[in-house]
Amino acid sequence: MSCKECKEKPVIRLTNNKIDLCRSHFLRYFEKKALKTIAKHHLISKKDLVAVACSGGKDSMSLLYLLNKIARKRDIKIMAVAIDEGIKDYRELKNLKKYCKENKINLKIYSFKKEFGFTLDNVVKKIKDLNPCSVCGVLRRRLLNKAAVELKANKLATAHNLDDESQSVMMNYMRGNLERSTRLGPITGLVKDKRFVPRIKPFYFLTEKETATYAYLKQFPVKFGECPYSVDSFRGEIRDLINEIEKRHSGTKNAIINSFLGLLPCLKESYKGSKVKTCRHCSEPSSGEICNTCLIINKLKKN
Ligand code: SF4
Repeated sequence: MSCKECKEKPVIRLTNNKIDLCRSHFLRYFEKKALKTIAKHHLISKKDLVAVACSGGKDSMSLLYLLNKIARKRDIKIMAVAIDEGIKDYRELKNLKKYCKENKINLKIYSFKKEFGFTLDNVVKKIKDLNPCSVCGVLRRRLLNKAAVELKANKLATAHNLDDESQSVMMNYMRGNLERSTRLGPITGLVKDKRFVPRIKPFYFLTEKETATYAYLKQFPVKFGECPYSVDSFRGEIRDLINEIEKRHSGTKNAIINSFLGLLPCLKESYKGSKVKTCRHCSEPSSGEICNTCLIINKLKKN
């Protein structure tokens, strides 16, 4: 077995088109695909200040590296933003801090503890009927947006990949929440509102396996562990289900995303009347009278 492009030993088989690639051809393929997504979907423009959402994990470290590489060649600036949710023995930002220092990347860290007064571990202990991932997702989205606004970034880049996005599409279908899907896609935002910083996803068409292989080959200092709360999540169930189907029917993840992108303009058109409200408690943008962040905080206070 050898690389499709040369005689070298392959390091990966691209599942969809069953192509084997060696280290250097895979690295080239990966970066080219991310750059193609950026160009095709107009994710980054000249003079942009891009806040890169970093967790210290393989996906976001790969994204930070790649966007920093682009920033050195093009007229854009980047900075890193990390959220410490307060998950014992999991969230680890030491390596990220070191990496940013060595590469002269400005890093800002926001924590649940400092911003909301509690850690995710506190919430899980206190309120049993709240799903940790739902709480984590709501609060993290709030903080990332807050960080991007405060830091005057005009784009917020996240490392969501093909696996993440196909899971989100299926989760929204299964929960009957199509309106939520209008917030998906390589660049998000149905309603233009200056309180929201547009989110961009350069890894949109790259798989989890490809991102993990890229991070491994580049030897980024990352932990490959899983969050202790991921086992209980609906996303975890959907991920296992899609992976199982993908194993038997190669190309399923791509098919989910491509058919979703075909439908997205219609979905956006159907929900274009949706207005962003202002939360009665905190004045932040919200889809209801009270935003999800305040609903969680209130529930926590009552307990
Ligand atoms: Fe948060 Fe759930 Fe991800 Fe853990 S698995 S970091 S709780 S969203």
